Amino acid sequence: MKKFLLKEDCNWYRANLHCHSVISDGQMTPEELKEAYKKEGYSILAISDHEILADHSDLDDDEFLTLTAVEYSVGEMTPKYPALVPKGKEGDWQYSKTMHFNLFAKDQHNTFQPATDVNCLWGGASNKYAASLKCDNFKREYTIKSINELIKRSNDAGFLVQYNHPYWSLNTRDEYLNLKGLWSLEILNYATELETGVEEASYVYDDMLRSGMMLYCSMGDDNHNPGKSLVQSFGGSTMIGADELKYDKIIKAMEEGNFYCTAGPRIHALYVEDGKVKIDCSEASAVYINEIGRTFRPYIGENITHAEFDLCPENVFFRITVRDKYGRNAHTNAYYIKDLID
Ligand SMILES: [Zn+2]
Ligand SMILES: [Zn+2]
Repeated sequence: MKKFLLKEDCNWYRANLHCHSVISDGQMTPEELKEAYKKEGYSILAISDHEILADHSDLDDDEFLTLTAVEYSVGEMTPKYPALVPKGKEGDWQYSKTMHFNLFAKDQHNTFQPATDVNCLWGGASNKYAASLKCDNFKREYTIKSINELIKRSNDAGFLVQYNHPYWSLNTRDEYLNLKGLWSLEILNYATELETGVEEASYVYDDMLRSGMMLYCSMGDDNHNPGKSLVQSFGGSTMIGADELKYDKIIKAMEEGNFYCTAGPRIHALYVEDGKVKIDCSEASAVYINEIGRTFRPYIGENITHAEFDLCPENVFFRITVRDKYGRNAHTNAYYIKDLID
């Protein structure tokens, strides 16, 4: 019997889970963002402005849904890394670590901001959105203890927390392997990938999974639309499966993991049958399975549209990557094998 890991009988909605508007440092208005993304075939947009959580439900229609979201930062005050900070640059933000998290409200109209120091808002007290903000008063510090408290407060207040762009943030494994309460890793941030060429963080995801963390992986554009251009747009999508385009159904799918993420290829089906995991996809040049150990067995070729891999409980978990001829990846979430086979 087939056990579908991505639900078979639902609609698939294309989402951008990371986006900035004029409310922080983006250059397009929420209305312009909706227009651009809707035109490109997106159904879901999380306008995740820096430090300002906003309800954009006035933009919603039958074919378009906004997620109430915000991006948080916590930065290092006394840089200790990289080891060779140029002289005179100590404390410069470009040489300091930071951690960024996207928060997604489970309740669309929940605009109470947890773990927020009102004195540290984007643009400071002059930000016109800051005056009406409802928040607690939490002093963020760049320590794992304080960052985990930020995540806990966010979870307790009803938010899913995504860990963003670890490479751009200069984060190291001693840090991200100690994070608790994450919903997802942003496995591709398209804007920072364009800047760095190494923001495909699948290596980080495996490092987390092999260390015993269990979380999903998602993608986002992190578009700021400089000069209103769309160069940072449409590169990292999360495909979410649900019966209908309703806020609670989309959040439920996000919580249950009924999604995959992609920079190009599409996954048409993912299921377990007869002790194997099987995948149907758009034309690929490679399909990879990654597990806890060194059990790699890739499909390499042209126009691959199906792959299947034997599952064995001792390999603990697996995740699958589909790569197209342009080198663009689609990633499934990770799954525990013991839950899937008898
Ligand atoms: Zn960021
Ligand atoms: Zn961002």
